[in-house]
Amino acid sequence: MNIAIAGAGVSGGYLAALLALKGLSPDVFDGMNHATRCGCRSCGWGVPTNVRIHLAGIGLDLDDYLLEPMPSMNFDGLVAKTPLLTIDKPRLLGDLTTDVAWKHQNLSPEKAEEYDIVVDATGINRAYLPACRSDLILPTLQQRIAVEPDGGGLAGTGVYGNRIPGLGYLWIFPLGGNQYHVGVGGIGLVEHDLLLEQFYKEASGQFSFTTLCGCRSFIRVSSPYYATPLFFRNTGNDGMSRLVIGVGESIGTVSPFTGEGIIYSLECAKILADSQMNPERYAAAVLARFDWMRKERETLDYLLSRKGKTGPRLRDRWRFYRNARRSGIGLPMIEAFKRIGSLSRWVDDPNGRTGGSG
Ligand SMILES: Cc1cc2nc3c(=O)[nH]c(=O)nc-3n(C[C@H](O)[C@H](O)[C@H](O)COP(=O)(O)OP(=O)(O)OC[C@H]3O[C@@H](n4cnc5c(N)ncnc54)[C@H](O)[C@@H]3O)c2cc1C
Repeated sequence: MNIAIAGAGVSGGYLAALLALKGLSPDVFDGMNHATRCGCRSCGWGVPTNVRIHLAGIGLDLDDYLLEPMPSMNFDGLVAKTPLLTIDKPRLLGDLTTDVAWKHQNLSPEKAEEYDIVVDATGINRAYLPACRSDLILPTLQQRIAVEPDGGGLAGTGVYGNRIPGLGYLWIFPLGGNQYHVGVGGIGLVEHDLLLEQFYKEASGQFSFTTLCGCRSFIRVSSPYYATPLFFRNTGNDGMSRLVIGVGESIGTVSPFTGEGIIYSLECAKILADSQMNPERYAAAVLARFDWMRKERETLDYLLSRKGKTGPRLRDRWRFYRNARRSGIGLPMIEAFKRIGSLSRWVDDPNGRTGGSG
C-alpha cells in the first residue's frame, strides 16, 4: 500500500510510527504553517497519565516529555484529584516523526493522486474529507505566561466554567518552572481577550507575569458520529479509485465537554493501524469506541436549543459525571452533578451576569 498521511500532529505522527512498526512506510506531509512560537498547533498540552501506554507502544517513554504533573486541580472552586499532567508536545511531535519520511510541505491535490490511500490527519482543517455532516467548533485563545519569581507563583491550576458566559471554560495548566498556559474557549464565544484580561486583572494582586506568546485556534467538538463521513473513495484523473480516511480531530475524536483530543487522537490512530487500513472496519470501530462523544455532543446540542433553557436533564448530568470519571478526575457524583450547572448557566442568561446554578 502506498500511503500518504497529511498532517504530522499527534494523530498523523502516531499513525506513521505505528504503521512503520507494521512494516509500512507512509509519506508524511505537513507544512506546519502555524503562527505559534512553539511551531505547532495551539494546545494546552494536558494529558492523562495513561498516555504512557500509547507512547510505550512505539518505544517512547512518557517521562521524557513530562513537564508538570497536576495531581489536583481546581474545578470552579472544588479541588479534586486528577491523573493529569502536561507534556512537552512539540518535542513529542518531533520524536513521533524521527524515523518516517516527513515532507515539510502540505500535500497538494496533484501529489495526492500518487497514493492509494490518503489519510486526512489535518485536524481542524479537515483538508481532504468532505464537510462533516454536522460540525461544531469551539473558538479558543491561549497564552503562555511566565510568572515573576517574586510574585509568589500562580495558584489555581484547573478549569473554570464559571468564568465563561456560555459552554466553555478558562484553564490554567502549569508547564514547569514558572510558566503556564492560560486559555479560554467556548462555543460561540467572542470575548476571549476581555475574559483573559479580566482574569489577569483580578489575579494581579497575587502575581505579576510576562506574556511569552498567544494564539487563537479552534477545537472540533462535533464527535465522530456527527463528523461523518469518516472516509470516502474518489476517482482520480487517471480513472483509479483512491481512498481518503480521516483520523484524529479531523473526524472529531475530541471530548465535546472538555476539548481533550490528544489521548483520543492517539487511540483513533491505533484503531486505524490495527484495522489494516480497512475503512469499513475502522469506521465501525471508531463510532463504537467513541459513542460517548456522540452523547456529550447531544447534551451540548440540547443545552444550545430552546428546550435546554430549562437546564440540564438528569442524563446530561450523568454524562458530565461519566466524563469526569473517564478522565480519572475524582469529582464526587453530587459535586459532578452540580458542576454542570456552570456549563448551562448561560442558558438562563446568555451574558452570564445573573446566571443561576442550572
Ligand atoms: C487552545 C487549545 C488547547 C487544547 N488543549 C488541549 C489539552 O490540553 N489536552 C488535549 O488533550 N487536547 C487539547 N486540545 C485539543 C488537541 O490539541 C487536539 O485535539 C489534538 O492535537 C488533535 O490532534 P490531530 O493530530 O488530530 O490534529 P492537529 O494537532 O491539529 O494536527 C493537524 C496537523 O495537520 C497539519 N495540516 C493542516 N492542514 C494540512 C494540509 N493541508 N496538509 C498537510 N498537513 C496539514 C497541521 O499543520 C497540523 O500539524 C486543545 C486544542 C486547542 C485549540
